[in-house]
Order: sequence, then structure tokens, then C-alpha cells
Amino acid sequence: MSAPGFTGAGLDRADHLRLDAERMADMMANGDARLLRLAELDPVLDQQGRLAWGTLDEAEGDYLFLGLDQGAPLFAPLVRTEAIGGRAWSVFRLLALMSPKDAAIWGAARSLNEWHNRHRFCGICGSATASYRAGWGRKCPACGAEHFPRVDPVVIMLAEHDGRVLLARQPQYPAGRYSALAGFVEPGESIEEAVARELMEEAGVAVEDVRYVASQPWPFPGSLMIACTARAESDEVRLDTAELEDAIWASRAEVDAALAGDPAAPFQAPPPFAIANTLLTRWSAGG
Ligand SMILES: [Zn+2]
Repeated sequence: MSAPGFTGAGLDRADHLRLDAERMADMMANGDARLLRLAELDPVLDQQGRLAWGTLDEAEGDYLFLGLDQGAPLFAPLVRTEAIGGRAWSVFRLLALMSPKDAAIWGAARSLNEWHNRHRFCGICGSATASYRAGWGRKCPACGAEHFPRVDPVVIMLAEHDGRVLLARQPQYPAGRYSALAGFVEPGESIEEAVARELMEEAGVAVEDVRYVASQPWPFPGSLMIACTARAESDEVRLDTAELEDAIWASRAEVDAALAGDPAAPFQAPPPFAIANTLLTRWSAGG
């Protein structure tokens, strides 16, 4: 069974080298060192659909050390951009062409870049901050505060009732697309509590027996998607129409048809690089 999207980069992140200026300079001068090409924050692909890489001479300004790929140091530029918060469908089309490893490497570079762009000023004293730890932090020269990249936990879940799972669509989805419900974990909440709250808020469905299935980083901008299943007490749905346009209960056969891309399926499945696809695949296989 395939791994969740944006995982499997296979890099040695080599945290111990991030503060070692001498080793970092050596690695940048290393003939095997490569610099990821980005268009703003989007991936640039070569003729074969692989991530395009350049050399470190092309680096202007700050850089991010992504890690070692079988000994070869990989870097990404620190891109100063106003184009943050984006999740263009054009990127989704590129992702459909990319290998899992390339998607994972680009995803990390995108998330980290987005975090830098959102944290240019110190949240404590308001001064301009500067990148340090080879891109894995920012430091405030005025008050000395250190700021580290954050990931936002998001629960994404299938409520299950009598052999069927609850799927919903947001108005901005492509025609026919249905997916698992999702929402941010809030301060003071466990994963289980967030799953139960989101299903109640968005669909009026009460659940118990929340079970973890899998997780994936989601680089729009920096979420950690935590996929779960939960048992619904009833199949009665009271939809929050401010967030969702429609909801359906799908059987295993219907889920399988959608995952197979069957045009007769009652809904269109989320793309393979989205964990909702992994979640549906594993739920179907697990029954
Ligand atoms: Zn400060």
C-alpha cells in the first residue's frame, strides 16, 4: 500500500550541521551540492517531470539546508515573496506528475519558505528577524528571541456508520469531488477531541472510538494532517452549510469505484497525494 503523499524524501536532515558555519560552507562548496529551483514557491520540473536543480553559484541571499541525499547536500533558496497562503490548482497538476520523493522534498522547502515569509518580524518585540540554523530558525537581533518553524496539526477523518463513511464537499472542490472532513486542532484539545468536535460542528455527527490511521505533512502552508476513523452513533447529518456544500455516506464498493477512477462512481476521489485518498484506501482495505 502506498505511503501518504509528501513523505519519503529519504534525506538525512543532519540537524547537527545546521549551526556549524564551517561545515555548512564546505557543503556549499561541495561539487555535489545542489540548489532546488523554485518559481516563487512552486516546483520547477525538468523534461522528465523531475524536480529541477541548479548549482549553489545561483544562490543569492539566504538559503535553506534541506539535508543530505546519499551524501549530496541539498539546498533551497529562501524566497522572499508576497505569494504566501496559496494553494493553486496548477500546483496540484504538477504534483500529480511528481514522484513521491520529489513531492516530499519540494513540500518541505515550500513549508519552510512560507514560514520564513510569515515570520519576518519578532512576535515578542516587533523587530526584524534573520534566518539562522541554515534556515531552520529565525533569531531576533534586538531581544535575542529564537523562533522555530511550526507545523499546524489538522485532523482529517472518516466517520463510519454501518459499513459506510461520511464524505463531504466544499464549494471550491472540482466538480464531483468529495473528501473526508477536516479541521485544525485547537489549543487545549487532543486529537480525539478535535475529531469529535469537528464532526459535530460540521456535520452534527456524534462519534466515539477515534482511531489513528496515518499522517502526512501538507505544505499549504505547513500542516501536519492526522488521519483518523471514528464510529458514528447515527447516520443522521446536520450540515454546516457555511463550510460544506453537501455530504454523502459512501459504501465500500462506492469508495473502491471512486478510488479506481470509475466514471460510474458516485463521487470523484481526492488525488493520491492527499491523505484523504490514503485514508479511504486504508479504510477500504481494512474492512
Ligand atoms: Zn525580538
